[in-house]
Amino acid sequence: MPESSSRHRFVADATLGKLAKHLRLAGFDTLLDTQTPRPERLSFLAHNQRTILTRSGKVYRALTGMAIVLVRANDPRDQFRQVIATLGLASGDLRPLTRCGLCNKELERLPKSDAIGRVPEYVWQQYSDFKTCPACRRIYWPGSHAQRWRDRIIQSFGP
Ligand SMILES: [Zn+2]
Repeated sequence: MPESSSRHRFVADATLGKLAKHLRLAGFDTLLDTQTPRPERLSFLAHNQRTILTRSGKVYRALTGMAIVLVRANDPRDQFRQVIATLGLASGDLRPLTRCGLCNKELERLPKSDAIGRVPEYVWQQYSDFKTCPACRRIYWPGSHAQRWRDRIIQSFGP
């Protein structure tokens, strides 16, 4: 698979918080602007390196010619599908369990011995591949919510 297509980075406007989380869980570096969507600000944050995601037609029209997607769907999963389809990404471009959904930080490997007492016991017994966020210390594992969600998204790509 082409490495470049997995390097998509995003900046999402403040109305797209859940979409930003989903993109991070899928492995994409995604900034979330927290202020009222304005073209100048989003353009600055994108820095010509990130695709802008907005629900504002006004922002979209002001930034015509830049890498920008006008997100039309209401449901975050539909929004995710729209972004993926618009950019022509495939399930192979996703990098699940590499990035924290809350902080956007890259996850670090967590030795199984260090996960004791920090995840439910049945989880600790069943899994050995743990990751942790260096910022919020949240722990991720292959059966965690992020992975179940990812599997549903991948199914939506079809065969
Ligand atoms: Zn985190």
